[in-house]
Amino acid sequence: MMSGKTLILGQTLGFDADPFHTPVDEAARYERRGAVLIENGLIGATGSADDLRAAHPDADVRDMGDALISAGFVDAHAHYPQTAMIASWGKRLIDWLNTYTFPEESKFSDAAYAAEIAGRYFDLTLSNGTTTVCSYCTIHPESVDAYFSAAQARRVRALGGKTCMDRNAPDGLRDTAQDAYDDSKVLLEKWHGLDRLSYAITPRFSPTSTPEQLAALGALWAEHPDCPMQTHLSEQTDEIDWVLGLYPQARDYLDTYEAHGLLGPGGLYGHAIHLTNRERDRLREVDASLIHCPTSNTFIGSGLFDMAGLTASGHRVGLATDTGGGSSFSMLRTMAAAYEVGQLNGSALHPAQLYWLATAGSARALRLDSQIGNLAAGMEADLIALDLSSTPAIAQRAERAGDIWEALFPTIMMGDARAIKAVWVGGQMR
Ligand SMILES: [Zn+2]
Repeated sequence: MMSGKTLILGQTLGFDADPFHTPVDEAARYERRGAVLIENGLIGATGSADDLRAAHPDADVRDMGDALISAGFVDAHAHYPQTAMIASWGKRLIDWLNTYTFPEESKFSDAAYAAEIAGRYFDLTLSNGTTTVCSYCTIHPESVDAYFSAAQARRVRALGGKTCMDRNAPDGLRDTAQDAYDDSKVLLEKWHGLDRLSYAITPRFSPTSTPEQLAALGALWAEHPDCPMQTHLSEQTDEIDWVLGLYPQARDYLDTYEAHGLLGPGGLYGHAIHLTNRERDRLREVDASLIHCPTSNTFIGSGLFDMAGLTASGHRVGLATDTGGGSSFSMLRTMAAAYEVGQLNGSALHPAQLYWLATAGSARALRLDSQIGNLAAGMEADLIALDLSSTPAIAQRAERAGDIWEALFPTIMMGDARAIKAVWVGGQMR
């Protein structure tokens, strides 16, 4: 106890390489009886339980039995203000925004409401084993303050920013090009780099921004290239037609961002389903991140992300819930949907690839992979213990498993918050 060291025992899973490009047996690092040493909020060491117990006899031991210890999940694209309207019925993208999303987002001018939903959101994501989120806020600076305050109070790593819109949105949800720049700059200077928080410059998407607003945010990004920039790209075909009508000079959807300084490394492009060859090539060339949101893509009827093709061509890909266009807070459910979308596209993602996407892959997409998303010495100790027999249906399937992947896959496909046995944030058990 007095040493300040904690040794967590269980099955352990980390990654030495990306399992899309390295054979799974070499990419994954699995110990049947493993251990993770936590020291000063960081991972001090990983290895076999016997070795680490011998090396650290003074550590406080927490034995998680057969639970699988891994990095906490990293959700690379979400909308926390949509928490209370998740699972809203019957609309596709544009109607869904107008009918459900914009009326709800209007409520976030009220700082007390924003604080209530932000707290609820982080409690839900943590109970689902998600230890880092990258979220859109609303147009209101109050919504950004509420988000970062709630993250800070829970000591979680979080990225987010004010969602900027200056056209094609209702009264009360529009700013101007200048306000977008000014508000974002003030919020960025207030929150970026504080504790575990990062400010993300956030134009919602091209249809709700004028060229002037995109240019203003492009200028802000050029002044703060260490901030991520998040937006949406090519989610639905109707949306793409709308964008091309609004930007007649643009070569394609991506060009509406590129022409205004909003394409670069550190760019996080949500969805990226219906890409032209030029868009694919440019995104690869600048090493931008594509964020796959499979439960959203099926729920809103958007289409099938080309995971096999885009990973094969070396694109940087992350995984996300897209709450509340996505239909779950759970990254387990999100991995299951990614598997299903892959099957519909003719490729079965390996459990190691799914799990990598939800942890190290998303951390890499956010360019935080030297800090979070893996079990390795020096990384921040954001961990989960996953119960691989959390329901009778899962337990009876896992019982027949011949290896860790067969044991893990039923939890990926059928698991939910009940599978999250414990969560550590910055080395502290929640
Ligand atoms: Zn989104």
